Amino acid sequence: MAIILDGKKLRDEIVETLKLEVAKYEKKPTLAVILAGENPASKIYVNNKEKIAQKIGINSIVINYPQNVSESEILNKINELNNDKNVTAILVQLPLPEAISKDKIINAIDPSKDVDGFGLYNFGKLFSGQVPTVYPCTPKGVLLLLDKYGIEIEGKHAVVVGRSNIVGKPMAQMLLNRNATVTLCHSYTKNLEQIIKTADILISAVGKNIIQGKMIKPNCVIVDVGIFKDDSGKTRGDVDFEQCSKIASYISPVPGGVGPMTIASLMLNTVELFKK
Ligand code: NAP
Repeated sequence: MAIILDGKKLRDEIVETLKLEVAKYEKKPTLAVILAGENPASKIYVNNKEKIAQKIGINSIVINYPQNVSESEILNKINELNNDKNVTAILVQLPLPEAISKDKIINAIDPSKDVDGFGLYNFGKLFSGQVPTVYPCTPKGVLLLLDKYGIEIEGKHAVVVGRSNIVGKPMAQMLLNRNATVTLCHSYTKNLEQIIKTADILISAVGKNIIQGKMIKPNCVIVDVGIFKDDSGKTRGDVDFEQCSKIASYISPVPGGVGPMTIASLMLNTVELFKK
């Protein structure tokens, strides 16, 4: 049976450490979150982030906008937050309403307050092999989890499935920066099964149940980033946990794996930006 990569446990440890650290500061970090529209999942995520921030002693401000908010209204708010010395980190909860340019909004955030590391400045630094102000939260959380369990990355074949800007692409780059040999797969990849079969470390970030036991290499390490609700309303990951946990050496569960680590990384990033 594979060892479980327990993201919830590690998140709790990180939260406790940050709580002690933040308690020492006279002034506290302030995280401002922009939430636009009525996406129920986004509301839950923002709520969870707020709760954990409060637990650590981080001030959190949530700015809610209706679905029909204009782009200029959000841009004006970001400008205001950029200039507010008390605000040390800014996050825009994605997805934004369709009429709004995600790129314009994200790139309006001052890079020194870009807590997700999604802006062009931080992204450019990451992809040119330099150290960005902070690393994107989900891939950072994945690496923290692998490191916690002492999983070697250097020289391994890491296969990342999914190439979004928030997970797959930065994940692949961060693994490359750690000297893994990386294959980045997507919906046009031919022979996906054959590629997955050669993965020492498999990271799946698709949002569909696509990884079955017969596809994986014995003793590989699996990190399941995907989250979706199946037809019965149950929260699922990309990986067939039942099958794969009998073949892999390590596996992250859904829920309780990468999700909590993304929040832990957000809190780490918030404190890092504050210190910088
Ligand atoms: P996304 O933007 O929808 O990207 C999905 C990626 O999967 C795309 O690159 C797509 O390829 C690829 N894909 C789709 N079908 C495929 C297939 N059959 N074979 C191979 N690749 C396929 O999603 P995302 O924002 O990266 O999120 C991915 C999943 O992770 C979602 O379930 C999301 O909820 C979850 N997530 C979890 C966390 C967390 O904290 N746990 C954080 C972020 C996201 P193309 O590019 O070719 O379309």
